[in-house]
Amino acid sequence: MRHSMNGNQGSSCQFVADGGSNQQDLGSTYPAVSFQNKIESDKTSDFRKKFYSDVNDEDWNNWKWQIANRISTYEQISKFLTLKDEEKKAMDAETTHCPFAITPYYLSLIDLNDQNSALRKTMVPTVNELIKSKGESEDPLSEEMTSPVEGIVHRYPDRVLFLTTAFCSCYCRYCTRSHMVDGHTQTLKQHWESGIQYIREHEEIRDVIISGGDPLTLSDDEIAYLLNSICGIEHVDMVRIGTKVPMVLPQRITENLLNIFRRYKPLYLSIHCTHPDEITPESSRAINAIADAGVVMGSQTVLLKGVNDDDKTMADLMHKLLKVRIKPYYLFQCDPIVGSKHFRTTVAKGQEIIHSLRGFTSGYAVPQYVIDSPGGGGKVPILPNYYKGRDEDNLYIYNYEGKVYAYPDGKDMQ
Ligand code: SF4
Repeated sequence: MRHSMNGNQGSSCQFVADGGSNQQDLGSTYPAVSFQNKIESDKTSDFRKKFYSDVNDEDWNNWKWQIANRISTYEQISKFLTLKDEEKKAMDAETTHCPFAITPYYLSLIDLNDQNSALRKTMVPTVNELIKSKGESEDPLSEEMTSPVEGIVHRYPDRVLFLTTAFCSCYCRYCTRSHMVDGHTQTLKQHWESGIQYIREHEEIRDVIISGGDPLTLSDDEIAYLLNSICGIEHVDMVRIGTKVPMVLPQRITENLLNIFRRYKPLYLSIHCTHPDEITPESSRAINAIADAGVVMGSQTVLLKGVNDDDKTMADLMHKLLKVRIKPYYLFQCDPIVGSKHFRTTVAKGQEIIHSLRGFTSGYAVPQYVIDSPGGGGKVPILPNYYKGRDEDNLYIYNYEGKVYAYPDGKDMQ
């Protein structure tokens, strides 16, 4: 990978020059630093005492230690929990569509004695993944069809998705990109330059979403390089990073990384979150530090059967996100990837959940419920039915309590 500076002068997405000025500085100035200001939940503390009593705080709070010590085999996970038959068979199969890995920290959030724990369902494979159901496909969003160069997905007019890595610290069983998350990061890194060149050559691109895999598993140097290169392109107004790291690996949010974030404005983080159990003292500390660094955060949640598909769980998640300054952004209908039927709810369930939020709680707590159209059609918003009908003079609408109101929208308005 070539580390080069790009001119930032005149760029709309600004490099804030108070924290160092060149790419080479980053490598020498910022050694790997552990999670600062240690805060730990009782649950994680108990888990550590039981399973990691020989691991000191410095290692546990170091994101590189967490990645190096991921639980990724049947033998390893069996030391922590008793696998159900359906999980055991999936582990034995070795043909699951998505790799298995979980950080020790994230495993500490799972109730190991509860075979139906929500987070366990999202991380531990089951035989259901091996079943291909009607309408499912490896690449349901047809991202490959809208990829002009390797690593770039250009589906919408003014923005692109830049797939920079295929590595994640934990692998979600319902991942839309399960066909490509395989840990082979080099494959995508080889295409960074052509991706950046594509963005540079297309002046209509004003918004770049750095995604993967999880980009925050890249090194500080690599993240700074990507931000610097993309923010150096004059027509790019904003950069977003899609990540689940603050929830599964909050140790990654080091002062070094925050210093890099502080240099680029406006910078947005789209944070993938699934369940209220992810909002812990550790993740809260990390997320608040990101907010303090001037980064704007929105959430992305996939609606998952048996995980978060009830009104109370979803309201709890949205409220907890707001308390740590993440604006609930998208609630996604689960994409029909191969082996996802056991995770997918009906669309009516999603509408019901949105209906349970809208009006009953702050508007800020209501995400936009969308279906990402299979075949590459893009996101389509889905609402509960608030429309009753109309006549010559009025539009009739339901409010959140189901009462009907008239809005004057007659012919005389045309
Ligand atoms: S973190 Fe994102 S990219 Fe990684 S496995 Fe989960 S959903 Fe997929």
